[in-house]
Amino acid sequence: MLHLALPKLYSLVILSVLLISSGIASLTTQRVFAPTIKTLRSSEAGYKIDYTNKTSLNVEGILGFWTVPIIRVPNASDVSLVFESLTVGFGADYISIGTSQFAESNGTVKYRAFYANLPENTSQSPVRITDLNGMVGPGTRIGAQILKIASDTWEIDMITPQTSFSLNLVHASSLHVAQWLVQSLTDGSVPLANFNFVSFDHANATINGVSTRLNLLDNERLRLFDQSNNCNLADTESITASGDSFTVDFVRAAPPCPVPQALPQVQTQNQTKPPQIINDSLTILLAAGGFLVAGVVITILSAALISARRKNIPSESTTPALTSMNALCKKCSSTLKPNARFCDNCGQAVL
Ligand SMILES: [Zn+2]
Repeated sequence: MLHLALPKLYSLVILSVLLISSGIASLTTQRVFAPTIKTLRSSEAGYKIDYTNKTSLNVEGILGFWTVPIIRVPNASDVSLVFESLTVGFGADYISIGTSQFAESNGTVKYRAFYANLPENTSQSPVRITDLNGMVGPGTRIGAQILKIASDTWEIDMITPQTSFSLNLVHASSLHVAQWLVQSLTDGSVPLANFNFVSFDHANATINGVSTRLNLLDNERLRLFDQSNNCNLADTESITASGDSFTVDFVRAAPPCPVPQALPQVQTQNQTKPPQIINDSLTILLAAGGFLVAGVVITILSAALISARRKNIPSESTTPALTSMNALCKKCSSTLKPNARFCDNCGQAVL
């Protein structure tokens, strides 16, 4: 279905057709590899194919659709975060595209689209996809793909029912891992948001030029664990009969998990104290941590936060003449982007 060097317009058309025809079941064939459940500690739930030990097998593309979850905020003061992504590569060498939901301490939930590419864009990643501002909110159906289109060039695409985004990225290394993920932060510093569930469909990866459904690939099922107590926060279901769909279910947000050893009271208070500097720009930056090892997260976030703040201040204050003509959010009175489907500030749907 997907091949290398597809013209950008063509690949976007394919995504659009899939978005419209999502109810059509894929042909089923016999599963070649039985999925294994990965029981290591993890900040990720979903499915992974890993050919790190079979370097002749190159991951040259990934495709997937999902619906942005509606985040439940039990207490308005609770800060929580979750994000969904397609990722090729891992560690400090990957390309990713996805959506994030960040519940702030004032009770609003910010819905974002983002991409990331490392190491080429380490200091900037993840990058908020501002082209999709106002178009990604609770319940939005998302189609996304990452495609290798030349030896050192990858195309990333994301579409919604109303609009699309496409960008070419330079990335030279060969990649051997593909992942469809629901994630929290690696270091557990922000609790997992209650996303209820996220279902992925049309999960395909292109291996050495051949697009193949998830169930025919050597896949691993990942569960999301609490880092400290090793209990389950999100559970991943089996691949459905279509061979390319699965659901990740929310289990619990954060400790206390049902394990005997509770942390001392003083430490618990420190850990549950919400970060005081969380703001708009940090929403997406927090998402970066999920892809990285914990030791690197703080360094990257600190550097990225400073640079992002510098950039965000002027960009948000530009074009006052235009924004003054735009409608305001009925819930939070923020200025809405023209033709916006959602408020970028609070996630409110625009009727
Ligand atoms: Zn609003």
